[in-house]
Amino acid sequence: MITKSNFPVERLTSIKQHGLAKSVLIIETVQELIEFYKSKQPYTLIGKGSNSIIHPDCFETPILQLSPTLTPSSFERSTLTVPAGLPTHQLMGLLQKYECSSLEFSAGVPASVGGMVTMNFGCWGQSVSDFLTRARFVDSLGNDIWLSNKEIEFGYRTSIIQKNKFTLIEAEFLCTPSTKENIKTRIDTSLKKRLAHQPLRENTFGSIFKNPPGDFAGRLIEESGLKGHSIGNLQLSKQHANFLVNSEPSTFKDIAEFLQNIQDIVLSKTGIHLEKEVKSLTPFSFSD
Ligand SMILES: Cc1cc2nc3c(=O)[nH]c(=O)nc-3n(C[C@H](O)[C@H](O)[C@H](O)COP(=O)(O)OP(=O)(O)OC[C@H]3O[C@@H](n4cnc5c(N)ncnc54)[C@H](O)[C@@H]3O)c2cc1C
Repeated sequence: MITKSNFPVERLTSIKQHGLAKSVLIIETVQELIEFYKSKQPYTLIGKGSNSIIHPDCFETPILQLSPTLTPSSFERSTLTVPAGLPTHQLMGLLQKYECSSLEFSAGVPASVGGMVTMNFGCWGQSVSDFLTRARFVDSLGNDIWLSNKEIEFGYRTSIIQKNKFTLIEAEFLCTPSTKENIKTRIDTSLKKRLAHQPLRENTFGSIFKNPPGDFAGRLIEESGLKGHSIGNLQLSKQHANFLVNSEPSTFKDIAEFLQNIQDIVLSKTGIHLEKEVKSLTPFSFSD
């Protein structure tokens, strides 16, 4: 386990949230994770922080991040097995190495496999749940278990993992055999599409609100006259109204209030309540 003390929260979140976490623990083995849960300390779990803001209460608890080498990666019979802490750019490398096509649509996003499965990451008509066969978890009692795709109860940007507080440690994906060249082309196409429509090079989350049934959050934000709306360092992207961009580190309070403000204005102008896609992380306590 690697312990980092007084760690800048900016380096844990793609939006570059301001703050200082007392300790960040990089978990390097499954046994370390099990031992930690057995200690029953409150904790906060984060992937690559590309869909999260961290409540200041979490700064006082250990913030757990899983090492990208927590479990080995392997490829056998069209199934790619990868550790939860693996970042997307390394995942793209493995798809090319094993010539297995599946999650190229996530290219360019600064996420981890654990966060992508938990959120059921998706775009352009494809989701992680279309490819995941099963995943391995440690529950808060320290039990090591596998759940099938069906048991994970995937929905639109949701899964049972968000409710149960299981920690995903590795995931298996069913791939289609392909060639390095074809996979690289698919990765490059995804990247180009993102760069054309999203502020990929800025400090941002993905979409801040979920699309309501039959509509688009971005369209409702635009209809409410909020495209490009800014307060302090925070601004709704001029490129994509449902993306928030942060020019300088902003606090949890600044970001949470900004999101609330957008939600309130859209509700008053359109009558539609936008549900947040971004997660506000709070400490997990064993007494909850
Ligand atoms: C530029 C950009 C583009 C994006 N585009 C998209 C897109 O096209 N589609 C899309 O769906 N999202 C998109 N996102 C949002 C984000 O990348 C996804 O939600 C992603 O799945 C989050 O992964 P993460 O590792 O960063 O998760 P985090 O933000 O770190 O965590 C998200 C949630 O998952 C939990 N979690 C993380 N790891 C684990 C684990 N191992 N076990 C259990 N729970 C865990 C956390 O506690 C938290 O509740 C984008 C983000 C950015 C910055």
